Amino acid sequence: MSFVLHGVGVSGGIAIGHAHLASHAALEVAHHTVPQDQVSNEISRLDTAFTAVREELEALHASVVSGPAAAEYGAFLDLHRMILDDPTLSTAAKTYIAQNQCNAEWAITQQMDVLMAQFEEIEDAYLRERKTDVIQVVERVLKALLGHPGYVPAPLKHDGDSILVAHDLSPADVLQYKQHWFTAFLTDLGGLTSHTAIVARSLNIPSIVALHHARQLIRDNDVLIVDGSQGVVIVDPDEHVLSEYRLRQSQLELEKQKLKRIKTIAATTLDGTTIELHANIELPQDVEQVKENGATGIGLFRSEFLFLNRDTLPDEDEQFEAYRTVARKMRGLPVTIRTFDLGADKNLDHAKRVAANPALGLRAIRLSLAEPQMFNTQLRAILRASRYGQIHILVPMLSSVSEITQTLHFVENAKQSLRNEKIPFDEKIQVGGMIEIPAAALCLDIFMRKLDFLSIGTNDLIQYTLAIDRADDSVAHLYDSLHPAVLRLVAHIIRSANRTGIPVSVCGEIAGDLVFTRLLLGFGLRSFSMHPAQLLTVKREVLRSNLPDIIPLTQKILKADDPDRIHALLMKLNG
Ligand code: PEP
Ligand code: MG
Repeated sequence: MSFVLHGVGVSGGIAIGHAHLASHAALEVAHHTVPQDQVSNEISRLDTAFTAVREELEALHASVVSGPAAAEYGAFLDLHRMILDDPTLSTAAKTYIAQNQCNAEWAITQQMDVLMAQFEEIEDAYLRERKTDVIQVVERVLKALLGHPGYVPAPLKHDGDSILVAHDLSPADVLQYKQHWFTAFLTDLGGLTSHTAIVARSLNIPSIVALHHARQLIRDNDVLIVDGSQGVVIVDPDEHVLSEYRLRQSQLELEKQKLKRIKTIAATTLDGTTIELHANIELPQDVEQVKENGATGIGLFRSEFLFLNRDTLPDEDEQFEAYRTVARKMRGLPVTIRTFDLGADKNLDHAKRVAANPALGLRAIRLSLAEPQMFNTQLRAILRASRYGQIHILVPMLSSVSEITQTLHFVENAKQSLRNEKIPFDEKIQVGGMIEIPAAALCLDIFMRKLDFLSIGTNDLIQYTLAIDRADDSVAHLYDSLHPAVLRLVAHIIRSANRTGIPVSVCGEIAGDLVFTRLLLGFGLRSFSMHPAQLLTVKREVLRSNLPDIIPLTQKILKADDPDRIHALLMKLNG
């Protein structure tokens, strides 16, 4: 039966293919048969995972020996340890692999069902409730299995036309999919500017988040049409609908090819103002896409993605190689490396700490300053790479001047250590700051005195101004990039920076959103940084824009406080 699902489209385009259901967090693991000679390998993977979880529980136990919740939490960890050692899980899962020649993930979830059924029989209500602990323990084992470096996700059933359908994925999960060929990407949860959506967008395939029930309603192998621009999924479409979308798909492809013609043209408005169009990247391999779309620099290298999906931190040499690769490939064009913005939704695999409000917690520069060694390693790696191109350092989530002072101190120390070791680097490397917290926007004068350039992180600026968790789909409808408070803050930052003569750019998602191109130009913005795939459509808009026509209308939009009026004026501006 055909039906339609609606979500929030985060990456445009049309894909037609077969559903591939997947989930990292939930206990929905793929089943696959393994050859006889691989059975012992699967058993030892399971053993390794059990050992890892045992060590994890012991480490947690050691960390809670004191403190008010020690007794309660300790008992809870003991219970988890008992469940882990229960032969139904530990021994029987291995027998299951041997008897059924299956993958370790499948065996452990099958044994989980057996153990859960045993709990179901228990008369004592309290003990019966411990079923949830069984699930938690198995989740830990699965995480250890899936996160194991040797792990390769189940092979795709339809090579070349698989559409990934997941309930929820972390940015780190999505990153893994960069190596796989999916034609589209669907999730039940996530907001428009969540990092999950951002990484999905960087895969450059149609993507929709906040579908709510897709994972439940879509079955493996269902034929799907995904319209990323409209945020619509059509499940099991009839032939008529299919041929209509195939036609639209080829029209879009044609348009994409046409856009390539403006790749090498300078981005200049009709009145002759030159605009810098830079790209955002997550990994060095993304540079190919940056070049394909003719970006004149990298405005945001989210370096924290080098730290995800691994057990150990990348050392100085590894980071240096990554930064140098990007600098070299960009051949002297600017490369702005943001120091790691870890914390919140991008946690290190081995980080045990879960904060109650992670977006307001130890994130980005706060974490860097709390982990001096890690920060110093990164700064040295960036400085060492700086002689191979034009590298700038960008500091995320600044909220107070003391953070800038401390950061500059760290940079100077890293420079001095390199001087002592006679390692060359760019002495004049520029250090800029992300303006993404209202406090920074409101105290810009003091920030500008200490920084070489500014980059406006509108994704977070909106989140913190409106107090809307950008990753939470239940408040996604309130995440309003056109809120008068947001527009006024953004305009204020651009105006103040221009007046002071300090370079300013926008690297949040609105920089690649056509709805905002003219508005930002009218605010005085001359440098944008966005996903490479959005660059040519934004360039086309720049080429068609005339600043003297735009500026009066943007001023009117700034003065308006009624959402309907703002939308009407914006339609006129973009009309
Ligand atoms: C932003 O906040 O706008 C930004 C560009 O950084 P991130 O999305 O990585 O938080
Ligand atoms: Mg940010």
